[in-house]
Amino acid sequence: MPTSTTPAALPAATIVGYPRIGAARELKRAEEAYWAGRIDRAEFDSRTRELRRATRARLVELGLTGDAAVPETYSVYDQVLDAAATVGAVPARFADVVTGALDVDDLFTLARGDAEHPPLEMTKWFDTNYHYLVPEIGPDTAFGPALTQAVDLFREAREDGVTTRPVLVGPLTLLLLAKPADGAPEGFDPLDRLDDVVAAYAQVLAQLAEAGAPWVQLDEPGLVADQRVDAAALAQALQRSLRQLARSADRPRILVTTPYGGIGDLLPALLGTGVEAVHLDLTRGELPTVEQLAGVAGVQLVAGLVEGRSVWRTDLGTAAARLQELRDRVERAGGDPEAVGVGTSVSLQHVPHSLTAETALDPRLVETLAFADEKVAEVVRLAGGEVTPGAVDGPRSVVRDWEGVRNGSVWERQAALTDADLDRGPYAAREEAQQEVLQLPPLPTTTIGSFPQTDTIRTARAEHRAGRLDDDGYRAAMREEISQVIALQERLGLDVLVHGEAERNDMVQYFAENLDGFATTEHGWVQSYGSRCTRPSILFGDVSRPAPITVEWSQYAQSLTAKPVKGMLTGPVTILAWSFVRDDQPLGQTAQQVALALRDEVADLEAAGLRIVQVDEPALRELLPLRRADQPDYLRWSVDAFRLATGGAAVGTQVHTHLCYSEFNEVIDAIDGLDADVTSIESARSRGEVVEAIDPQRFDRGIGPGVWDIHSPRVPSQQEITELIERGEARIGARRLWVNPDCGLKTRAYAETEASLEHLVAAAKDARERIGVAAG
Ligand code: GLN
Ligand code: ZN
Repeated sequence: MPTSTTPAALPAATIVGYPRIGAARELKRAEEAYWAGRIDRAEFDSRTRELRRATRARLVELGLTGDAAVPETYSVYDQVLDAAATVGAVPARFADVVTGALDVDDLFTLARGDAEHPPLEMTKWFDTNYHYLVPEIGPDTAFGPALTQAVDLFREAREDGVTTRPVLVGPLTLLLLAKPADGAPEGFDPLDRLDDVVAAYAQVLAQLAEAGAPWVQLDEPGLVADQRVDAAALAQALQRSLRQLARSADRPRILVTTPYGGIGDLLPALLGTGVEAVHLDLTRGELPTVEQLAGVAGVQLVAGLVEGRSVWRTDLGTAAARLQELRDRVERAGGDPEAVGVGTSVSLQHVPHSLTAETALDPRLVETLAFADEKVAEVVRLAGGEVTPGAVDGPRSVVRDWEGVRNGSVWERQAALTDADLDRGPYAAREEAQQEVLQLPPLPTTTIGSFPQTDTIRTARAEHRAGRLDDDGYRAAMREEISQVIALQERLGLDVLVHGEAERNDMVQYFAENLDGFATTEHGWVQSYGSRCTRPSILFGDVSRPAPITVEWSQYAQSLTAKPVKGMLTGPVTILAWSFVRDDQPLGQTAQQVALALRDEVADLEAAGLRIVQVDEPALRELLPLRRADQPDYLRWSVDAFRLATGGAAVGTQVHTHLCYSEFNEVIDAIDGLDADVTSIESARSRGEVVEAIDPQRFDRGIGPGVWDIHSPRVPSQQEITELIERGEARIGARRLWVNPDCGLKTRAYAETEASLEHLVAAAKDARERIGVAAG
């Protein structure tokens, strides 16, 4: 039971979370300075302290007033890591370095590893571009309060005069996101430890209560996705964990949030746990029915009506009408309509800080946008009853009439498309035609596209952007880079060459900057993980290609060599996944427009003499809907978009694609459906395990499971590469096997790149000889 001194209700306006990187990326800068030894721990602490103080003050200023209205969502690296560390879930391999009460340095060790300690694995957080650190939990993990950050930050905020609401990833989601620790027995599931982990949470809640926290927020987004356990088991685990927490003697009031989708029929179970408040994502999820709300009496609801992951303004009139409808239903279900508050659908960590920093955006576009601060203001207005339900929202309608948005000729092309546009005919005929053109040896060697991004390249790009280097000077710098990269590949003896992608800051932003229908921001940074941020472009209108984008660079590269050079494009799904996209038409339609633009680029590359084109789709799996029922539709339009982009290529043009993750079982049919002539995938990182998942009967085109893990500077030996090639041969056969690294090389340095590629080429040549001997 909550302690009696706590205020009854959560304020009517709140948010699930807020960006923590800082409007000027203060956290990133402090971290990088600290890691590099430029500042000491005291300076690091004082800088982050100031960031937290400023953030809380800003949220109060924006209208999140009242005790517990401001969530404490600061995290030095990752919120899942924080939760794991709070309850002491530290993998055994860190036993010699991470000991006692954990602190910031321990978090960095867990997140980043060191020479002797591989870090925690990182993976995508639900269907967003944020990455979390995967907890490792085994039968022997000793749970108990460890990191005291939640309590410390609550006390710190109090000193500033703000009573915050501490936030933790909830126990159920923590275990759903965890993987079994090394050495866990076959069949062990981290969920087996639910009772133990909940007991540790109960102790943490007691500490928070003692510190005077009136409320605590437990994030349980695990409830909105289909999980490895079925819905009944999930409901049971949910009730078991939360009831146990709700029953504990000393604790703050509990708000459970369910961001990233609807929880549907799990709502009655959640309402019956004894927690005081429940948040619902009402932008992705439906309004609950009166039946689903049966247990709402005594539970406060937070209506997540402001979309926290898009950059669009909320249609406030519609949101107010839905709020009213929800209140009606709550009343009919026997609850208190006044107790329904307003919030965001998810943490605002997925959007940039504030629109006020953007001075170069078209004002007509700005009118339609809302970043984190503007979204907080929307929540406050809705909660304050300032919006008339159903009122017409002016600015949103402006966007649809603006000539920068609509492009009639794109619509005409879309209307005229037929299935034939997606079809390149039977693979056997393509294979023959391509072999005739390309004359490649068995086990051809290639790379994924980018070569190391050196300081020279970055400087040239920055100088060009700043106007200090003119177009000719910039072009000369890039050409110089390309000729060096081609010369290196020739010297190494690679078979299919690349131009190196020196001209690209980012594989999506580069295309966004060169296509109509996109805007790019100056300061719109969003945390990707740790100190890493991206600046997603905004896809606001019909997409078209005003001029060829990559042709000049690829053509130049091809002019330098007799070997085939691959033209290099980013696929439609990846362009969508890593941008903020318009929400006024189905995603599939937007993907189709991007695909048409790429289709024209493919045609221009062919006309310029390129015989191979690679269309990267590393994000194909990322956008996969969290609910299985929604997946077939997604897979249909995403595969179609790729096929539309590549379907115009001549039979003799070899189409490659690249996917950079190893868990692709769920999308294996889609990868097959892409119908690329050659597919490269990440594989070395998992020691070639991926290869086993490939059914050679079905997947009968070229395939290149990576043989060099490019995620670290380590140089693989020729022997290691040989073993991975042999593993591929054994499963797939030598005939369609390619030899390539896991992914692009842009984060690597030249020293390890050259050494590793030397080994890769030598291993492939040896394997070829072996095959030749066996065949002869
Ligand atoms: N062609 C890109 C590169 O080599 C692919 C990157 C990726 O897969 N994310 O950098
Ligand atoms: Zn990749």
